[in-house]
Amino acid sequence: MLDCEVKNSWAQFIDFIESRCSSAEFQNWIAPIQLIEATPHEIQLEVPNIFVQEYLLDNFKDVLCNFLPLKGSGEPAIRFSISASQKQENAPVSAPQEKPEKEPSPYELKLNHLYVFDNFIEGPSNQFVKSAAVGVAARPGKSYNPLFIHGGVGLGKTHLLHSIGHYVSEHHKKLRIQAITTEGFINDIVDHLRNKSIDKMKRFYRNLDVLLVDDIQFLQNRLNFEEEFCNTFESLLNQNKQIVITSDKPPAQLKLSERMVARMEWGLVAHMGVPDLETRVAIIKHKSESRGLNIPNQIAFFIAEHIYNNVRQIEGAINRLSAHSRLMSNNLNEEIVEKILSEMFQSSAPNKKISVEEILKSVAAVFEVRISEIKGESRHKEIALARQVAMYLAKEMIDDSLMKIAASFGGKTHSTLLHAWKKITDQVQMNETLRRQVQMVRRNIES
Ligand code: ADP
Ligand code: MG
Repeated sequence: MLDCEVKNSWAQFIDFIESRCSSAEFQNWIAPIQLIEATPHEIQLEVPNIFVQEYLLDNFKDVLCNFLPLKGSGEPAIRFSISASQKQENAPVSAPQEKPEKEPSPYELKLNHLYVFDNFIEGPSNQFVKSAAVGVAARPGKSYNPLFIHGGVGLGKTHLLHSIGHYVSEHHKKLRIQAITTEGFINDIVDHLRNKSIDKMKRFYRNLDVLLVDDIQFLQNRLNFEEEFCNTFESLLNQNKQIVITSDKPPAQLKLSERMVARMEWGLVAHMGVPDLETRVAIIKHKSESRGLNIPNQIAFFIAEHIYNNVRQIEGAINRLSAHSRLMSNNLNEEIVEKILSEMFQSSAPNKKISVEEILKSVAAVFEVRISEIKGESRHKEIALARQVAMYLAKEMIDDSLMKIAASFGGKTHSTLLHAWKKITDQVQMNETLRRQVQMVRRNIES
């Protein structure tokens, strides 16, 4: 029996790992693992041999804990079995080969089934790029060509790229479409050169109707491959075939040839921005509901306020909460959520030590007051507010004793600091302007 939620969590784990390891590593060690059974309490995985099982646990136990049901001991609740074919043949147990035995056709269209337009939450930061993507999917080669999507990590570029792929393959069945990562394309070229079949590959790519290219930044400093890419692009564009490209930077900032940059700027360059607070809350609600987890509004806001520049991290937070609520079978309250997520913040930025001085500098800039005024005694409204925000952030961001932190504010006491922290904690719930100012300060400090 496959429990839907656990099955989804497993699929998400696989996606997550795929984005973290090299494609050879993924093909050798992760792709051969089969999900056999999933209940809310345990999953059963079939592995080709014991090495794969050990590899999975040695390398990804912590990540597995975030995605899967847990045993009482806190370990992921996985039952392993060795695949029957291995046992039957009584083959000696050996490490996986360089290549998986049954390699999928290199030209198979591989799209993440969760990355569809319907699952993509819109807001002011991504509305424009989403409409461009929908336009391209509806009329490939006839609207913007190429469509170039750029933006930071974890903001949904790959999600939109695959959404275009799903839409085209559903609505334009006759069109030949391929989605590739830039690294995948380079590996393909290398393989085909080795097998002396490069012409076959060129023919395949140049006969496509829609080519989706993820993460073009990986083409930087790969001079030999850039030319092949550029030739492919030109050939397709000349035939009015649709190209969509994603990148972490706009074309002009990529270290690529002028010719390549010019081709990429030819069509529409669209920026994927960081979602604003309301959009992040909507994403949290959507993702948690689809996982059967009920996150009250207040908690959704709390998460959205603390994780602001990466939707993938938001998903990580929901996975943690989901694992926790399954294990503890109790309702989530703010205290629990804060505990679980603060651990997560620590693990995401373990090395960065923030100082009171940095906080003061950033608060002074955003609130337009002097550092000396914040440290002083003035009760002037603006200065007092800036001081309280600085104290609030110092308590939130610095892992030190309250007494020590308070002393850095011109010798204040720890109860003054606590009072300020409580006051700002309450105010940011209700005051959107203040919430944004605090976010801005935080972002300046963390960047
Ligand atoms: P990028 O390619 O920009 O690094 P991804 O497309 O891989 O980011 O997105 C990271 C994760 O966040 C994915 O699981 C994706 O589904 C999710 N995500 C990003 N933006 C949105 C959004 N607007 N609505 C829903 N999910 C989103
Ligand atoms: Mg991506």
